[in-house]
Amino acid sequence: MVHGKVYLVGAGPGDPKLLTLRAAELLGKADIVIYDRLVGKSILKLAPKTARKIYVGKRSGKHEVPQDKINELLISCASEGKIIVRLKGGDPFLFGRGGEEAETLAEHHVDFEVVPGVTSAVATPDYAGIPLTHRDYASSVGIVTGHRAGDSGRPVNWGKLAAGVDTIVILMGMESLEAIVKKLMEGGLDPEKPVAIIERGTTKMQRSFIAKLNTIVDEAKKNDVKPPAVIVIGEVADLGRKLAWFKKAQR
Ligand code: SAH
Repeated sequence: MVHGKVYLVGAGPGDPKLLTLRAAELLGKADIVIYDRLVGKSILKLAPKTARKIYVGKRSGKHEVPQDKINELLISCASEGKIIVRLKGGDPFLFGRGGEEAETLAEHHVDFEVVPGVTSAVATPDYAGIPLTHRDYASSVGIVTGHRAGDSGRPVNWGKLAAGVDTIVILMGMESLEAIVKKLMEGGLDPEKPVAIIERGTTKMQRSFIAKLNTIVDEAKKNDVKPPAVIVIGEVADLGRKLAWFKKAQR
């Protein structure tokens, strides 16, 4: 059987200029682009007009395409002998289920390559003026999903996390914010610990809010903060008050 090649490509956090040169090069020669919700429209324009573009993210009111269907799609496109760019927001191997897709490709002996992307976990704090580490405040960072604040799958151990790292970065955390805050405080995290939320980071719609662990839920409600958003918990979050360069650059 003729096999194409699948490129698992990171599209960066939102600002199209944060795309890597390798990603742009591959998009330029793609036969098929399979993309997610958080991929910007202007990035898709880098693919040839003739390329097939397949959206597999969530549509409003509908669920996203199930992962096994995406896996099947990758295999069937590869068996056509095509160049496939599987484009994912941020970095493909950080909470993008890129690992599962790579496993499927490996199991089916499909040639693949992983193209790192600028992850929202780091880039959106950057754009909000929040360094995740700092000589005076933080020498360790934990990046976690807030998606399973409940108790399914492999839940994050919030108590251990609170005690274990200086800066906590939470992706997919908005829906469970209240539960996460509660668990962190139960785990011994200081209720006065600074917290920042960056909504739609690196885009023109970026908004960031800085509060404390015990006030962040109200702050988020008051401002109607919505996903996609990154939550940063730790002393470094306060630096965003002083270093919020992106807002200034836009004025
Ligand atoms: N692989 C991606 C993460 C996918 S999970 C990456 O490396 O960035 C999706 C989560 O990423 C969202 O729920 C949100 O927490 C975060 N995210 C992605 N883009 C974002 C953006 N522009 N601003 C804020 N958060 C973002």
